[in-house]
Amino acid sequence: MDADRSFDSQSSGRTEPDKDGIHIIPDFSVAHTVSKGLRRNGDLLVFHECITIILECKPAPSRSEYNRDNRNHELRQSLDEAHKQLLLYLAVYFTKEPAAKSVIAVASSGSYWHWMKVEKHEVPSLYFMKRYGSARLSDLANVPVDDHEDYIRYFGLMDRWASLGSVYNLGKPESDQALMRMRAGDLISVLQECRCQLPASRKA
Ligand SMILES: [Zn+2]
Repeated sequence: MDADRSFDSQSSGRTEPDKDGIHIIPDFSVAHTVSKGLRRNGDLLVFHECITIILECKPAPSRSEYNRDNRNHELRQSLDEAHKQLLLYLAVYFTKEPAAKSVIAVASSGSYWHWMKVEKHEVPSLYFMKRYGSARLSDLANVPVDDHEDYIRYFGLMDRWASLGSVYNLGKPESDQALMRMRAGDLISVLQECRCQLPASRKA
């Protein structure tokens, strides 16, 4: 896994062999860019780029009507997988972009989704996520004292995901309202925290 390369592409999730480990790409990410048109050829000169939204998609739970409990359980498991993977992406992102302060993380399973805004200080280190990101809970119980701050951050974020409560279903009115809230609240907040503007001498 390479923090310098992991967000080079915004194409859908795939895991590729890499001589240094596993090269992982999130399913979807939304960038904020600050750019200026060049009068001569109409090209854009990009001065700044950061990520505002990182999305991890997992398969939909079973549609079986006979198994509603199982379906809810599958949905929670699927979202939990997305949450864990998002923690790794967040660790990579904040390592690659040390000036970034926050980002919106979206976990989805089929058409079900939920989100939260994550601050940089809440995210475990990339070292910790590389070492323990795929570990079982029983392995995490033996984390050395030196890694306890990361351990607390890891479970802090997993607890925040678990306490979100609401999971939205795309196309339903509640989902539309949630998208509006995400856009008007957390997305604007992430952009305000970025504070990147065109350099003064380059403004039109
Ligand atoms: Zn930005």
